Amino acid sequence: MPDTNGYLMGGPMMGIRLPSEQVGIIKATNCIIAMSDVLFPPAPPALPCIRCTRCAEACPAELQPQELYWFAKAKNFDKARKYNLFDCIECGACSYVCPSHIPLVQYYRFAKSEIWDQESNQKAADAARVRHEYHEFREEREKREKAEKLAERDRAAQAAKAQKAAAPPTLPPAGEVANVSPSATTVEADSESAIQLKIQQAIEQAKLQAATTTPKNTEQLTPEQRAQIAAIEARRAHIHELASTSVEASSAMLVEANTEVKSQPPTQSPQE
Ligand code: SF4
Ligand code: SF4
Repeated sequence: MPDTNGYLMGGPMMGIRLPSEQVGIIKATNCIIAMSDVLFPPAPPALPCIRCTRCAEACPAELQPQELYWFAKAKNFDKARKYNLFDCIECGACSYVCPSHIPLVQYYRFAKSEIWDQESNQKAADAARVRHEYHEFREEREKREKAEKLAERDRAAQAAKAQKAAAPPTLPPAGEVANVSPSATTVEADSESAIQLKIQQAIEQAKLQAATTTPKNTEQLTPEQRAQIAAIEARRAHIHELASTSVEASSAMLVEANTEVKSQPPTQSPQE
C-alpha cells in the first residue's frame, strides 16, 4: 500500500508493531496488518486519569486497570503484582474506553518487563551466592582435611620415634668383634703402604722431570741473559729440594699420626 507506514502483528487492539518487515512469521502470528494514518490515526495526547472507572468496567479479567496504571507509573511493582498485574491479558479494552487516552497497556507491559528483569537479576544473584557459599565450604573442607592429614602424619612420626627409643640397642656378638678386628687392621696397614708407595713414586717422578727438562730457544743469548737463566735454574732446584723435603716430612707425620691413633684405646660412645 502506498500509505503504509508500518506493520502490526496481531489484532488492531492487541497487536504489536513490528520493528521491521524482515521479522519472520511464527506459529503465534495470526495476522499482519499494514498500518496507515487513515487506519490508525495518531493517538491524542494522554490526559490525567479522572478515575472514572470505565476501564474497570471494560476489563474482561475483572482487574482494576486504573490502580495498575498508578502503580506502574510510580514503579511500585510489588503493589502492581499484588493487584494481579500478571492476570492482565493485554487485550487493550481499558485503553480503548479510557476518556483520557492513556496508553494503559503500554504501562502494564513496561511493569511486567521490569519485574521479569528484576527476577532474572535476583536469580543470577542467588546462583552467585550459592556458588560463593559452596566455594567457601569447599575451601574450609580442604583446609580441614589437610590439617587432619598433617596431624595424622605427626602422630605416626611420634609413635615411630617412641618405638625406636624404647627398643634395646643391637650390638654384634663378642666373637664376631674378635674375628673382625684383625682383618680390619690388615686392611688399614695395606692402605697405608699403598699411600706411602704413591707418595714415593710422585717424588721420584718430580725429580726425574726436573732433571730432564731442558729450556728451549736458549741459543744465541747474551751473557746477561745466560746469567739470569742460571740464577732461575738455581732457584728452581732449591724450590724442588724444599718441596721434596716437605713432602717427605708430611708423609712421615702422617704415618706417625696414624700410629698414634691406632695405639690409643677405643673410646665408648655416650649412647652405648
Ligand atoms: S478509564 Fe482512564 S481515566 Fe477512567 S479511570 Fe480508567 S484510566 Fe482513569
Ligand atoms: S488490558 Fe488488561 S487491564 Fe486492560 S482491560 Fe484488558 S485485561 Fe483488563
